[in-house]
Amino acid sequence: MSGAPANRGHREAGCSSYTVLVMSCIFCKIVEGAIPSATVYKDDQSYAFADIHPQAPVHVLIAPREHIGSLAEAVESHRPLLGHLLWVAAEIARAKELGKGYRVVVNNGSDGGQTVDHLHLHLLGGRSMHWPPG
Ligand code: 5GP
Ligand code: ZN
Repeated sequence: MSGAPANRGHREAGCSSYTVLVMSCIFCKIVEGAIPSATVYKDDQSYAFADIHPQAPVHVLIAPREHIGSLAEAVESHRPLLGHLLWVAAEIARAKELGKGYRVVVNNGSDGGQTVDHLHLHLLGGRSMHWPPG
């Protein structure tokens, strides 16, 4: 007997490591609407929402709909998506009239201060930013 039935059962149970990651990921749940958020922008590739602990008058998180754990986990095929996320940040900044300036941040990994393991851009604006960041 082949192993096909067992494999099929495995897929039907949705137990691939990717599926487990997505099921446990808070930003995947926000993107899907399973956890409520204040929507700022959405399209077929991305979802942007207000940060729950804003660090500036404007603090928007821009996440890909696809689960990518971090910038470091992005692969070659994600190049157009990465560009799209930056474009979305600039579009939101225009919509929010951040003509005086703003900051786009990607925290990566523990030393980078990343606390949610689903790639996202922070768009911060509405106040003067400091440099260097902490
Ligand atoms: P990181 O530290 O990974 O760069 O950024 C994660 C951000 O997600 C933080 O600024 C944090 O305030 C925000 N955040 C964490 N959980 C939630 C949530 O459930 N809803 C929203 N809207 N933001 C969240
Ligand atoms: Zn995710």
